[in-house]
Amino acid sequence: MKNSSLADIKGVGAVSLEKLNQAGLSTRRDLMYFLPRDYRRVEFVRRLADVRPGQITVRARADKVSTRRGQRRFVEITTAELEDGSGKILATWFNQPYRKKQLAHGEFYFSGEFGFSRGQFQLTNPSVQAVTTSSTKRLEKALIEPIYSTIHGLKSSFISKIMAGLASEMLILDEILPEVVVRGMQLMPRADALYQLHFPTSLELVEQAKWRVLLEKYLVANLASLVAKEQNSAQKSPIIAPDYELVKRFVTSLPFQLTDDQRKAIWRILENLQDSDGLNCLLQGDVGSGKTIVALIVSLVVAKQGGQVALMAPTEILATQHFQTAQHLLSEFGVRAGLLTSGLKKSEKIAIYQALKNGEVDLIIGTHALIQPEVEFKNLQLATIDEQHRFGVVQRQMLAQKAQLKPHLLSMTATPIPRSLALVLQNELKIISIRHKPATRLPIKTEIVPKSNRSLMYEAVRAELDTGRQAYVICNLIEDSEELARQSVEKTYQRLSNGELRNYRLAILHGKMKPAEKEAVMADFAAHKYDVLVATTVVEVGVDVPNATVMMIEDAENYGLSQLHQLRGRIGRGKYQSYCYLLAENVLDDNQRLLEIKNSDDGFYLAEVDLKLRGMGDLYGKSQHGWFDLDANIQAIEGAAQACELYQQDLVARGTTAQADLPKYSELWAQIEQFDSLTILN
Ligand code: ADP
Ligand code: MG
Repeated sequence: MKNSSLADIKGVGAVSLEKLNQAGLSTRRDLMYFLPRDYRRVEFVRRLADVRPGQITVRARADKVSTRRGQRRFVEITTAELEDGSGKILATWFNQPYRKKQLAHGEFYFSGEFGFSRGQFQLTNPSVQAVTTSSTKRLEKALIEPIYSTIHGLKSSFISKIMAGLASEMLILDEILPEVVVRGMQLMPRADALYQLHFPTSLELVEQAKWRVLLEKYLVANLASLVAKEQNSAQKSPIIAPDYELVKRFVTSLPFQLTDDQRKAIWRILENLQDSDGLNCLLQGDVGSGKTIVALIVSLVVAKQGGQVALMAPTEILATQHFQTAQHLLSEFGVRAGLLTSGLKKSEKIAIYQALKNGEVDLIIGTHALIQPEVEFKNLQLATIDEQHRFGVVQRQMLAQKAQLKPHLLSMTATPIPRSLALVLQNELKIISIRHKPATRLPIKTEIVPKSNRSLMYEAVRAELDTGRQAYVICNLIEDSEELARQSVEKTYQRLSNGELRNYRLAILHGKMKPAEKEAVMADFAAHKYDVLVATTVVEVGVDVPNATVMMIEDAENYGLSQLHQLRGRIGRGKYQSYCYLLAENVLDDNQRLLEIKNSDDGFYLAEVDLKLRGMGDLYGKSQHGWFDLDANIQAIEGAAQACELYQQDLVARGTTAQADLPKYSELWAQIEQFDSLTILN
């Protein structure tokens, strides 16, 4: 596109230009990709006698045009009787007194919605166009009208008008996708697709055009991921032999049997550690599905061959818990584990830094403290990140950079990524799932409790506590203020310890406490020195207290689906029946999220639902394409994955790489480069 400025488009003035820019539309290309959010069919009604409710255009004369004040101040209502010899209808305009003069003589086209309103059938606020050869040609047939979202007050009709200024340019747009993709996927050429979306001629063609544009959008993500993978494999990773003998010996030392899914996960990870391209694996499994043991077994194999392993957890509590588990299980196999958190004394930290540098620690477990510049490894070969959606790409890379050979990367998450996103990422990320939890677990019983019914709930909770179980109370979600969260926890604590739960031992946990305090409370709770833990979402991630079987979540409607599922995962970890109570103001049937969480305990299913409820926008960041429904998006994502495969086959056939080939498609390449990596899941 030679001229990319919006200012020269007919109809764009200084004010509208400013508004377009504010909405992130600064080039002609941006504007062309600002697509209608919907389409509307407008019927041309040849005889007024045949008029039906709906979007219509009629050709008529206006009689009895008059203007009066409405009941509300500042409203002027102009009405007219439209007639064409076959029949009459009423037309009404608001605050358009000039219609009276305009409609005095002759015939016009009136377009708008004909329907029942204010006591009678009428055509409301129709647009008016003079009868000319060109308007006759254009309007005397059924039309499909694009509807655009308003841009900072710029209405759909205005956007239609300025799009018309781009029409001739759209028709001559170049194709930007590789030929093999356009042909193989039978895509509408780019120019035709964009033209059809803005100047539709049939709804069927609009569908084909949408498909083309969406597929292009997602293909960019796929190709970016393909390039990332090529770039990644430039640096080599250590080759680690799968020591199945060792694994067997370790597994027989465990107090439980591994599930089939756990075995498969271990096997697949060990397989991939033999690849010098390096493993980049996302291990996803519901809370309590037993991901930790998988990571520890893999760590054991790496450590016994002389490599170092770093395991990074999002909270001190969790890091400490992992450290204890690791020591308990791995020390007899000669693995030297260490713990590094920001809560350590300076001298303790220095000792750990030394040990890591000298290779005296095989498995280091810690928080963000692990990626401080002071941390150096002798031979880091595997970096494991627990609950990775809480870490950014930068942090992952920093951990990966702390080695000469690129370490293998294992991320674990209890928030599975939706199938569609997995398809986008499949090139650079190996996704391994643990679908089934250990069979010993009983499904959690989840209830939605109206706040007014609390006392019944506490009765049930006390009965549980009396049998020796423990409970969590999760207080108001206050994301942006630890201080307000603390207050909320303390208020709830007061209320309960003086009221419904006064005969029990209560403790408090929130983000404002010092790490050492938090740890002490958690350790005491785990040791059953407390019956009830009143907490913020600090306990969301990973904490393991099998004896805790009750969770009460205050103001549950404020939480996201995945977050509720994560929280609930703190219970149901032992052999006892567990109960989760979702306290809500409104126990309306239409609280979709709470109903979903009540009815399902399957994190994979809930992730899909979460995506449906939140829409696609969240996953792909800011997008101009909020317009098409999710199913269309998901289909396009699948199509894009297929298209990417076609392209890869073509690369192989031609003996080249994506990095070498894609820059030929300069406009496509620019978008791929902008994409960064979509591995950002947090
Ligand atoms: P998550 O996947 O949420 O990280 P954990 O790894 O913390 O789950 O495991 C939860 C609990 O289940 C731990 O107490 C762990 O020891 C136990 N566990 C793990 N695997 C099994 C198994 N195969 N059978 C029984 N219990 C298991
Ligand atoms: Mg875990």
